[in-house]
Amino acid sequence: MITDGNCIFCKIVSGEIPSIKLFEDDRTICFMDINPANRGHALVIPREHWVDVHAIPDEAISAVVITAKRIAGALDTSLAPDGINLVQCNGAGAAQSVDHFHMHVLPRVAGDELKLNWGLVSGDSDQIKATAARIRAAL
Ligand code: AMP
Ligand code: ZN
Repeated sequence: MITDGNCIFCKIVSGEIPSIKLFEDDRTICFMDINPANRGHALVIPREHWVDVHAIPDEAISAVVITAKRIAGALDTSLAPDGINLVQCNGAGAAQSVDHFHMHVLPRVAGDELKLNWGLVSGDSDQIKATAARIRAAL
């Protein structure tokens, strides 16, 4: 298993640092973004450390997309957002801030005017945990 001891998402995979998990299988993990652009913002990652779309093997990115689809369904059922974006960033110029491949599952609120560089603002951890419980119940 390919891992990077300095990578924050590898530390989430290993359990070295905590996360608010929604789902995991043998290839992927999904957890809540701690700086949610909107309520319900989640991240899907491969367990293995691949930096970006150029590095990740086909079977790993396929597993991520399958999990993202499942999470999007649960988000839709539980939170009924106005829409959902699946977003994935590669390189600093594309606002990638964590060098471990990840896909954002990003619920939208009509009129939120979110841009691709939406900025990182800490969320309220109790609120994120309560939202996660609702999404989990719909998985
Ligand atoms: P990106 O900017 O596309 O690389 O996305 C990285 C995302 O990871 C950002 O939305 C951060 O808020 C999120 N993030 C960073 N550290 C953590 C963490 N420890 N737990 C959950 N989300 C995180
Ligand atoms: Zn990593």
